[in-house]
Amino acid sequence: MDGKMNTSPLLPEDLRWVVCPVCHQPLESQPESIRCTGCLRRYPLVDGIPVLLADRTL
Ligand SMILES: [Zn+2]
Repeated sequence: MDGKMNTSPLLPEDLRWVVCPVCHQPLESQPESIRCTGCLRRYPLVDGIPVLLADRTL
């Protein structure tokens, strides 16, 4: 144990199981938001947690 922990709020791999709630296409992480690669909607990141609600798009 070196005490090192993964402190990244969101890794690209975390999005493998997440799809856009609108068009069900994969999402990609951006510095301060999550963007759908299909319809290009952007979803907010709240405390590092993507808020994937269709009515919460940025
Ligand atoms: Zn979409």
